[in-house]
Parts: sequence; structure tokens; C-alpha cells
Amino acid sequence: MHINIMTKGRFDVIDITDDIAKAVERIGEGDGVAMIFVMHTTCGLTIIEYEKGHMEDLKEMFEKIAPSGFDYRHHQRWDDRNGSGHLRGALLQPDLCVPISNYKLELGEWQRIVLIDFDEGPRDRKIIVKCIKAED
Ligand code: ZN
Repeated sequence: MHINIMTKGRFDVIDITDDIAKAVERIGEGDGVAMIFVMHTTCGLTIIEYEKGHMEDLKEMFEKIAPSGFDYRHHQRWDDRNGSGHLRGALLQPDLCVPISNYKLELGEWQRIVLIDFDEGPRDRKIIVKCIKAED
């Protein structure tokens, strides 16, 4: 199943937990694993406690690892300015797996699935959700 999410870019963190939960219910695999994959190199997926101050902490962490103002070689190749976004996306990874029990995501109380868009501006992002049935 495909899900489309509109983002604002520039470190836009979007809580997509409810969208994924609905997709998992619609796919209708009672027990197994949900695989979630974002199809863009300047995005990443992770699980985090979704709270405003912590999103600022996360942004600061990525700014230290792959600063947005740096002159990346990638900029010369394509004449764009999103080199830090690609590196951040590669670090975070485009995929996540979450267990499913009785058609529901098995997440801890504070765990939220977030999409982060590191690109320079608004984008229409595609996410794929697949469910794999467990054999036990
Ligand atoms: Zn680029």
C-alpha cells in the first residue's frame, strides 16, 4: 500500500503513526511484521518520543553530524543545496519494521513512527507499507 505525505522540508518531522496503523488494518495481516519504506533520499524514518523539545534536540544532533551550511561535493554535481539532507537520510535509513499483533502495530507507550524530510522545501513524499505474515 502507498501513502502520500506532504512535507514542508527543512527538517520537517511528521508523526505518521496513525497513517501506518490505518494502512496495517486495511492490509489485514493479523500477526506479522509491517515494513515501512520511504522512497526518497533526503528523507528518513525513525521511532522516537514525539515531543516538541525533543524534535529540537534531534535537529541539533543532525546539525552537528551533517551541517546544513557545509559546501558538499554533491552541490557541484547537481547544482542543488541538499547535500546535508542526503547524508542525513542515509544515516537515518529509509525503512523501519514494526511487529503486528491482531491487526495492530506493537509499539511501546511513547513510541511514535516519524518521517523526517531533510530537503530544502515542500515535497510530496511516497511511503510504502507491506505486511509480512508471521509463521508461528
Ligand atoms: Zn541533491
